[in-house]
Amino acid sequence: MAKQLRDIEPIRPLLDHPSLAVFSDIDGTLAPIVPDPQDARVTDAAREALRELMALGVGVGLITGRDLAKAREMSGLPDACYAANHGLTLSVGGVDETPDVVRDFMPRVRDVIQETTAVARAGVFVEDKGPIVAFHYRRAPSPERARAAIESALAASPAAAAFRVHEGRMVLELRPPLDIDKGTALAELARRMNAGAVLCLGDDRTDVDMFRSVTAMREDGTAGVTVAVDSQEATAEVLAGADYQVDGVAGVERLLGEIARALRERAPSGR
Ligand SMILES: [Mg+2]
Repeated sequence: MAKQLRDIEPIRPLLDHPSLAVFSDIDGTLAPIVPDPQDARVTDAAREALRELMALGVGVGLITGRDLAKAREMSGLPDACYAANHGLTLSVGGVDETPDVVRDFMPRVRDVIQETTAVARAGVFVEDKGPIVAFHYRRAPSPERARAAIESALAASPAAAAFRVHEGRMVLELRPPLDIDKGTALAELARRMNAGAVLCLGDDRTDVDMFRSVTAMREDGTAGVTVAVDSQEATAEVLAGADYQVDGVAGVERLLGEIARALRERAPSGR
């Protein structure tokens, strides 16, 4: 079970590494959850702290279920590395890559959307994320009815059968059935960014894969700390999977700000 992180003392050993990387989820971690997912944005304080960390030589990788364009727009950090769509698309050093095996699912997503148009009547928002399609029911007049409408539409859609259904917070997502998740994405980004020490932040059950990945890296000698973000919607699984926990996006802002301050204080003057 994650311990409350009251100060950055447990993080300090990471700060001694010259190649520290911070890997973070976006929604619910850097960006507060809002009724319309399209309106969510990384807070100014979180963005500024991450920008300062990058200026201090820390690698920043944002690992999210959002598509790459949306992730960039939400964060306002064009120079960060990204694993978007749960790792199906990576961006390192400004080079974006989506493997062919993932691209093959894009036309099938369009077929699913054609075959499930009935869900609109129940107030479901359908998001085309390229190789993924998300059915959001948070804003539906009756979330229960909307969810049932999604389930029956998917059952009747031949194209949907090619995908794996994932349960999110008030969203059902169809993703390609590939062995790629936020955990494999973190390992890949860490490798490409030459991360020697890793701080990982997340609030969703999909982020537990990232926590596991950091634990595995730790067994191989990489310094790593995982931090779960507690909120009303946080699941026990998330809190159980991390070393530490902080309260909400505000807790993340504070943590990142303190790390930036600690690094700035030890940086040679002029940096
Ligand atoms: Mg999240």
